[in-house]
Amino acid sequence: MSNYEFNTQDRKSIKDFFSTPKEVVITTHHKPDGDALGSSLGLLHILQAQGHRVTVVVPSEFPAFLNWMKGSKDVIDFIRNPKGAKEHLAKAEVVFCLDFNDPSRVEKMQADLNNVKATMILIDHHLDPKKGFCDFQFSFPSIGSTAELLVHIMMDFGWDEHLNRDSAECLYTGIMTDTGSFRFNSVSDQTHLVIARLMKEGVRNDRIHELIYDTNSFIRTKFLGYTLSEKMLQIEEYNVVIFTASQTDMDRFNHEPGDLEGIVNFGLSIKNMKVAVLFSERDGLVKISFRSKGLFSVKDIAEKYFEGGGHKNAAGGRSKLNLEDTVKKFVELLPLYKKELQTVRENE
Ligand code: 5GP
Ligand code: MN
Repeated sequence: MSNYEFNTQDRKSIKDFFSTPKEVVITTHHKPDGDALGSSLGLLHILQAQGHRVTVVVPSEFPAFLNWMKGSKDVIDFIRNPKGAKEHLAKAEVVFCLDFNDPSRVEKMQADLNNVKATMILIDHHLDPKKGFCDFQFSFPSIGSTAELLVHIMMDFGWDEHLNRDSAECLYTGIMTDTGSFRFNSVSDQTHLVIARLMKEGVRNDRIHELIYDTNSFIRTKFLGYTLSEKMLQIEEYNVVIFTASQTDMDRFNHEPGDLEGIVNFGLSIKNMKVAVLFSERDGLVKISFRSKGLFSVKDIAEKYFEGGGHKNAAGGRSKLNLEDTVKKFVELLPLYKKELQTVRENE
């Protein structure tokens, strides 16, 4: 069914390994998003249905708009419960690393992840996986989400027979959020094939969309309005839009994790804009979210200048400079990319 070929030797080794009950930990990147948590919980349900003991351990808190997913209440957050997280990692026989490909992406949990004795299995769609990070690596950067890749693997292994509505809804969420609701160019016929498979389990797509996108608090919506009207800057010459969110503003609007999610996309909703960037103060650093359209790669800028990485059209990074100086540093880089930023989209 699926167009993706998985190494038959790996498939056999993994299937043999899981033929008896195992102690499993599933982990994902710092600040888990819809794909990170959705794919982790989707896999949790499928493995549990096969009789394995499975725990999802996350390096830090996930946003509240994901807490309706089945199994989310039992997720162990390393920051809140380091002892529990360490215990599970230490006793695991197998650790799945989902939606990241470099141990540094688990931030404060990195030492514990590096120390595990377990077999490590990577399932991810980011470019350039770190060599030797895991024993088995399913790395497919052309696929739009880890959740989609996971369903291809499940279908290939014949494990999709264990899907049910709960797991299918977690996986659907991962695909929906990482593809901007099925609009990015990473969406393929294979994506829709996977969606069709998930829909068979009775996924309530309209409800999921509401749970993810229509659960803003009043104050969060005011924060969005304030940021759009007061903290958005357009650099027309380069087709770039910048947003800033200071700690003071976040405190004023009772900022909660995930509140800034999606704001950056408003920049790309402006005609002809190619790049949108959100700079926000967090834990004494400036966190940067980059988004772009077309061929322009924000991953390169994030990697080269802002200690980050990600995908061509969605990347993140950080800066130790203050908010103002970080923005200045970014703006001063733009002339280096003048030609690409000024190329009209139709001519790409
Ligand atoms: P976001 O802006 O939503 O935080 O991140 C966008 C994308 O960039 C996500 O795919 C995320 O995994 C990736 N990303 C964010 N921050 C970093 C980082 O510091 N390093 C790397 N390698 N990827 C990042
Ligand atoms: Mn992802």
